[in-house]
Amino acid sequence: MIEFTVLRRCALFVLGAVGTISLIACGGDSASTVASLPSATVEPPVVTEGLTPTPVPTLPLPNITVEELYNTAGGDGVGSYPAPEDNGLPQPVIQEEFDAPVAPTAEATIVGSYPEPVADGMAAVAVEPIVTVDPTRAVAPSPRLPQTSSEDHYWMTRPVAEGGVVWTDKFYPYGSTRGGTLRTHHGVEFNVGAYDVPILATADGTVIFAGLDDEVMLGPQLDFYGNTVVIEHDFLYEGQPVYSLYGHLNGVTVGVGQNVNGGDIVGLSGASGIADAVHLHFEVRVGANDYWSTRNPVLWLWPFPEDGTIVGRVMFPDGSLAKEYPVFIHKIDPGEFPVIQTLTYADDQVNGDDRWPENFAYDDVEAGRYEVYTKIGNKEYNVEVVVERRKTAYVELVIGE
Ligand SMILES: [Zn+2]
Repeated sequence: MIEFTVLRRCALFVLGAVGTISLIACGGDSASTVASLPSATVEPPVVTEGLTPTPVPTLPLPNITVEELYNTAGGDGVGSYPAPEDNGLPQPVIQEEFDAPVAPTAEATIVGSYPEPVADGMAAVAVEPIVTVDPTRAVAPSPRLPQTSSEDHYWMTRPVAEGGVVWTDKFYPYGSTRGGTLRTHHGVEFNVGAYDVPILATADGTVIFAGLDDEVMLGPQLDFYGNTVVIEHDFLYEGQPVYSLYGHLNGVTVGVGQNVNGGDIVGLSGASGIADAVHLHFEVRVGANDYWSTRNPVLWLWPFPEDGTIVGRVMFPDGSLAKEYPVFIHKIDPGEFPVIQTLTYADDQVNGDDRWPENFAYDDVEAGRYEVYTKIGNKEYNVEVVVERRKTAYVELVIGE
């Protein structure tokens, strides 16, 4: 059990574990070279393009039972991590001019040593959205999962079976460019660590796409997600259809028109399309099945029993969003939960949630009291928040005041 906990925390909180940082089969959605995180010394994995099986470091899967899985999150088996005060967490290099109140200019959204985002030219691509809403269809009630709040929409289970890598990658979260080295991420990664890991439907629905995206535009270009499954779910969210997308598969195991239940196998993990290593790319789309209609999947996936999710909005006094800013999450309660660093969304390619107009979200946060902060020069902007189990905690940080 402890082994699993450490492994999981390692995968989640590597930035707090200086000296043990490693990208665990972190595949990105770009053919570009994987680079290190901006503020941490990370040895990039060796990657290649396309379908060639890549010698990815094999992630030792935890050998645990379902019961153990759901009883690990609250444990204190993370003893190998230093306390937050002396963990040597790399701090971003902050430009001096941020000491003064900052006008929301393009420059102001780049913090310190982050490289410039890579121009991708994607906006120029004309995409015909694939919309399949049938207004006459029977709509299922929301599949609200146990212990969740009706204010949240944690209506999906994990696309990877229990016992596997069921947690989202924290290096390349939704909305991130991973420090300007990859495309803005329209989904999240599950670094399953191997080819042909069964990939599961996250909720009931109908398969509306299955196969290579070499003729149908699912992303910013053809041949982007490779072997892909898209499910239109049986429920609506505030009158809108909801889709889940499973990309870079080695193969699909369902066909268009097939009804699936949550937990059914829909494909096998791979590295097809533009994946740089084997992983599952997972998206949630709301309103339309197109690349520009995504939402942050971590706000749809049922949290682990002892964990909640912190979402927030980092903005300037005029309300404009601070883009790709570092956000730190520090547990105030006693324990050895390491300091987390994440990033706000890099640009407007991705969307805030319909419920939470957030520009960052961090899942798998064990319940407790936290300080959420960002730093501009010597100024620290912080707010306290209590994370409850299987609930969303919302914070706002106004910077430059
Ligand atoms: Zn991805």
